[in-house]
Amino acid sequence: MTKETYTHTCIICHQPFQAPTPSRRYKLCSKECAYQRQLERNRGPQTRQCPVCGETFTKTNNAQKMCSTQCARERQAEQQHQYYLRQRLKKPRPTVERDKSALEYYLKARRQRVAA
Ligand SMILES: [Zn+2]
Ligand SMILES: [Zn+2]
Repeated sequence: MTKETYTHTCIICHQPFQAPTPSRRYKLCSKECAYQRQLERNRGPQTRQCPVCGETFTKTNNAQKMCSTQCARERQAEQQHQYYLRQRLKKPRPTVERDKSALEYYLKARRQRVAA
């Protein structure tokens, strides 16, 4: 008794493959293709919203986050600016000494004014 097989076409690699039944359930030829399909599903739609201008765009690759090089540059400049601000906050403020002497000068001047 020969086992009958049915030819299906893999929806991922488009190669024909054999399955024991004509069921539409057989869409994938191998585990590799099943995995590939899972990846594609997880990836979802290939559109993303630009965090800079808010435009929806189609990604050309997974790493792309901004709609254009213009927006990518703006984003980078903004991040550099944020970094600069953070660095500035971390540093001890060099103006403290000057502020203190300015305050002393102000207090002295006020005392003189009160005395006058
Ligand atoms: Zn396949
Ligand atoms: Zn943009």
